[in-house]
Amino acid sequence: MHHLRFRQVHLDFHTSPAIPGIGLSFDKKEWQATLRAGHVNSITLFAKCHHGWHYHFTEKGKLHPKLGFDLLRAQFDACKEININAPIYISAGLDCMILDEHPEWQVVYVNPDTQHTYVASPLAPGFHRVCFNSPYMEYLCEQIQETVNLFPNCDGIFLDIISQPECVCSSCLKVMADNGLDPRSQKDRRRCSEMALERYYQMSTMAATYANPEMPVFHNSGHVTPGKRKMLKEYFSHLELESLPTGGWGYDHFPLSAKYVQGIDLDFLGMTGKFHTTWGEFGGYKHPNALIYECAAMMAYGAKCSIGDQLHPSGKLDESTYQMIGQAYAEVEKKEPWCDHVESVADIGLLTAAAVNASAARDIPGDIGAGRVLLEGHFLFDVIDMDSDFKKYKMLILPDEIQIDAKLKKRLDAYLGKGGKLLLSGTSGLDAEGKMMFDVGGEVKGKSPFCPDYVRFGDDVRPPSISSPMVMYLPSQRLKVTDGISLGDVHDSYFNRTDYRHFCSHQHTPNRLEASGFSAGVMKGQIMYLAHPMFGIYRGWGCVPVGEFLRNAIRLLLGDSCSVRTNMPSMARLNVMHQPKEKRYVLHLLYANTLARGGHINVNGVQSRGMIEVIEDLLPLPNVEVWLSLPKGVKSATLEPQGVPLSLVEDGTGVSLKVDSVTCHQMVALNY
Ligand SMILES: [Zn+2]
Repeated sequence: MHHLRFRQVHLDFHTSPAIPGIGLSFDKKEWQATLRAGHVNSITLFAKCHHGWHYHFTEKGKLHPKLGFDLLRAQFDACKEININAPIYISAGLDCMILDEHPEWQVVYVNPDTQHTYVASPLAPGFHRVCFNSPYMEYLCEQIQETVNLFPNCDGIFLDIISQPECVCSSCLKVMADNGLDPRSQKDRRRCSEMALERYYQMSTMAATYANPEMPVFHNSGHVTPGKRKMLKEYFSHLELESLPTGGWGYDHFPLSAKYVQGIDLDFLGMTGKFHTTWGEFGGYKHPNALIYECAAMMAYGAKCSIGDQLHPSGKLDESTYQMIGQAYAEVEKKEPWCDHVESVADIGLLTAAAVNASAARDIPGDIGAGRVLLEGHFLFDVIDMDSDFKKYKMLILPDEIQIDAKLKKRLDAYLGKGGKLLLSGTSGLDAEGKMMFDVGGEVKGKSPFCPDYVRFGDDVRPPSISSPMVMYLPSQRLKVTDGISLGDVHDSYFNRTDYRHFCSHQHTPNRLEASGFSAGVMKGQIMYLAHPMFGIYRGWGCVPVGEFLRNAIRLLLGDSCSVRTNMPSMARLNVMHQPKEKRYVLHLLYANTLARGGHINVNGVQSRGMIEVIEDLLPLPNVEVWLSLPKGVKSATLEPQGVPLSLVEDGTGVSLKVDSVTCHQMVALNY
């Protein structure tokens, strides 16, 4: 397995041919000193950028027209001289220069106005997509081979923008004709895109590894879609989880992505950015505290770290950026011994709808909502797919929209037979005809005609401050409890807000006073079913009492099998990793407040990006208490990396500990 270093920089370098003096401010000594000051021990350097230009002498592409020397060679040798790893970046899916020469290699959209990614108009500023079914692939592979020939001791090849939109270019039309596919059918166009991607993966991986089968390769698509393990095994040496919290991914994308990939046998890193927003933001900076937190979060979830930067065309590394990176990476360096070769510890398996429904979407509401509830409730969980071992978990959650086929039914029955617990919501648990496939203690009778409806939750699960009917923003399944325990009554509204004679006040119509006779949820033995797509509601509306209800429901079902309890607030994060070689668990306590700053403005045609979630302050969290019951009996504890012993109190079922104050990130080594 390719073993990654902890402190990487991803150094973007997409440089317009209209800018002069490329690389003229590169100075080897200064470059080395800046990277050292940043505590960087690996940096991804550029062979070819999205503009399509090379930054090294090449016979297979073209040197940037304003570059007069071999910049990549100079950067590369400067890094290697001081033992800094240097993987090499090659832009695959975007290449402006070659599309000027071969416009027939460009992706052609059926509906350019609605379908395009990047830019559609030839006159608009921005990059254009190349088609992986076109002869561009042969051109790209020659460049990959040339790069590994010129830099045989590089630490990997990073290939970027790996996706294939639906395309009707002449190459794709030919592929579809040869394979009996109809370009007028979206399904067939998608099949053609899959074939293009397969062609890309095979050819590019072969090119990168043709001289050295051990050459690491990573193909970046901005997200690792669950359920594609075969592809990862065949074509990837490791994973880089691109997830810039302020760049559109949000602060909860990375933990969920990490909790999925930690179950795959590949080393991985988290990739954030130094930018205030996202890639390409020259002169954009976040607060150093944000980077410190983001790197700590990567380590807490079992990842190595990478920080995205973009090099100025002059070739000089930015002083402020590397000071900031240095603050974060100095912390990382101290913590590495507790964060390498780790495995997750989990009570709950969150089966992602992305893996079951074969959807490529990144933002599936039920998955994201469930992930947030589990993070905010400090549950130990993994995100899992159909290849995961269900038996490892005390409880499985199938959020909102997981349809049950015969194969999944059989696996879940076996899991329940061994005593596992199962939480279903929305249409999860139903078959294709809408029939409930498990004995949940109630009957499901189709979708409610009311949207929204209301729920008065039962005392076992209700949010602490609310005993009245609460609005539920998405429709429920009609659930009649038979021999299970109801979790609350559904109240219908008087009518849906539909037309001029059927509306009331500013939003939805109020609840009827009498209960509808249907339930909001039911529990019978090991199974709980929630009639609303409750995780999606939480994802979409973020209503705090809905989150509180969901945490209570999960705790009720999990009961005594819960391995951890804490008094930390919902904004804090807790994770436990196992370090078997060191015979210890490592408890990670994380805390930073993310705040919404910024908003939509338009001043003389200049538009802002809208609200952005930022971190500025790192406030101490006092008197953190944690109770843990782990598979191996814990004998002693120390605060790390400080090395300060911490007293443990045994209560026969587990151990409790108290940390006087947590600022940003505290590890506790639990030795067994
Ligand atoms: Zn095409």
